[in-house]
Amino acid sequence: MAVIKIHDKYFKPYISAEKLNKYVSFLAKEVENDLDPNEVPIFIGILNGCFMFVSDFVKQFNRPCEVSFVKLASYEGISSTGAVKHLVGINEDLKGRTVIILEDIIDTGNTLTEIYNIFRDKQVKELKIVTLFFKPDVFRKELHIDYIGKSIPDKFIVGYGLDYNGLGRNLTAIYQLKDKKMKNIVLFGPPGAGKGTQADRLKDKFDLIHISTGDVFRYNIKNETELGKLAKTFMDKGDLVPDEVTINMLKEEVNRFPDANGFIFDGFPRTISQAEALDVFLDEKGESISGMVALEVPENLLVARLLERGKTSGRPDDQDESKIRNRFNEYETKTAPLQDYYQKQNKYFGVDGVGSIEEITERLSEVFKAL
Ligand code: AMP
Repeated sequence: MAVIKIHDKYFKPYISAEKLNKYVSFLAKEVENDLDPNEVPIFIGILNGCFMFVSDFVKQFNRPCEVSFVKLASYEGISSTGAVKHLVGINEDLKGRTVIILEDIIDTGNTLTEIYNIFRDKQVKELKIVTLFFKPDVFRKELHIDYIGKSIPDKFIVGYGLDYNGLGRNLTAIYQLKDKKMKNIVLFGPPGAGKGTQADRLKDKFDLIHISTGDVFRYNIKNETELGKLAKTFMDKGDLVPDEVTINMLKEEVNRFPDANGFIFDGFPRTISQAEALDVFLDEKGESISGMVALEVPENLLVARLLERGKTSGRPDDQDESKIRNRFNEYETKTAPLQDYYQKQNKYFGVDGVGSIEEITERLSEVFKAL
């Protein structure tokens, strides 16, 4: 499940259709167990939001029952206290009946107050309240709720009958409003600049997801996947893997973490067209790149570092100087222009990449904090 856009806002997956089904069937069983077996209840759904919930609920309630729907409508001018709610659509005689209200969500409790008021003089035998969702943090009433499917934090949700300005009711899962922007950082620098080492330290410090496209490729090569076989021919020579392959892989990786606070992109983008694709992809999610943070290290230092790493990393592309030179060549021709790409958007931040690992983490952290 991916992030979706409704009107002007973005929503992330929150409760899957499978989970919803569990809450609903649990509620139906609870209600069924508590009822006198001879009692034929009348379920009343409060429209509009409840229609999916009621439909699924009564399918799981395996005893005779009646089902009805009402709508709460406002009319003004009669009471001095302003708008008063009344029910539209109640045709059944409820006198002496067991009435079970089915609500999709109870938040402040204002609607619930109205329901209690309206049913007070209907001479029902018993009134029970069932709600699929409940927001304890905003509920301000002393009113009784008999059954709660799931308590949720005070965040705006849509789907499964619930709408945002009319849309979203037909979604089979529940989505939650995304209210804060991610911190998405492109950690940049030539091969051997220390991106992997630093990303590893910074991801914990800033609670971000580290995606190294090189690592993902190596993982696929090790596991002999189709992607791995394809990437290997390019990687072994120190060439870049084609954009389309890399971009699709990156999107899949990002989509695995819909709840992330943000990402450190390490080794991506490496071409202008990857950067453009990343911008479009993030924009569809209501997100953007916060900044490119570049480790600046002189080339002579880098070659020495890579050859040193090659002794232990087992990476074929680290082990011989001509492959390393080729990677630099790829970097200079295809990747370095990205500095300009982000500079134009005022998103380029250069950091001195020479020093101890700790010192460099400190320098990077200062920039990360500000982004
Ligand atoms: P790295 O571990 O970042 O040094 O990447 C090692 C190799 O993986 C590169 O030399 C490329 O062959 C390949 N690779 C990693 N990221 C990308 C990318 N964004 N685009 C194309 N090829 C990539």
